[in-house]
Amino acid sequence: MDLAGKIRLIKDFPKPGINFRDITTLLQDAAAFRQTVDKLSELCRQFEADVVACPEARGFVLGAPLAYAMGKGVVLLRKPGKLPGQTLCHSYDLEYGTDALEVHAGAILPGQKVLLVDDVLATGGTVAAAVELVKKCGGEIAGVAFLIELLGLAGREKLKGLPLITLLQLE
Ligand code: 5GP
Repeated sequence: MDLAGKIRLIKDFPKPGINFRDITTLLQDAAAFRQTVDKLSELCRQFEADVVACPEARGFVLGAPLAYAMGKGVVLLRKPGKLPGQTLCHSYDLEYGTDALEVHAGAILPGQKVLLVDDVLATGGTVAAAVELVKKCGGEIAGVAFLIELLGLAGREKLKGLPLITLLQLE
């Protein structure tokens, strides 16, 4: 199946000049969604991860079924103030201002091998922050996986040395 053909390009979202890859059209197609999760889980088995971790919000949509398919648990990486328990936090710089990701203390144990999953690798800022947060917990990055890699933004430069899988590479 042409999975790339199921993704819709929306111009000037969320700001003028940005070409947004909308994955909702893929997610709502049963066969395309199944094939996406099946392909990702097939490719990710080589990482021999103990647990899957994913940033909100679209990372959850792929991370949870991927963890299920691989027989692993899923750890949610959330924006500040969303998780009810005690958390660890990693802040990172955006073009304007800063943002942060949080994880529950104890959700990732020292020495655990973590597979990080998100929908899109753009500049790599989000996943780089997720990597730092996993390391703060004492976890090891087993691998990193995305549905889409946006080639023009060179996000993989921020992931040098880490095993990386991207299902679709788009300009
Ligand atoms: P980065 O931090 O790599 O610049 O951006 C990646 C994050 O922003 C991901 O969590 C992803 O969900 C979101 N993102 C950035 N660009 C797009 C896009 O074109 N489409 C979608 N669906 N998400 C995007």
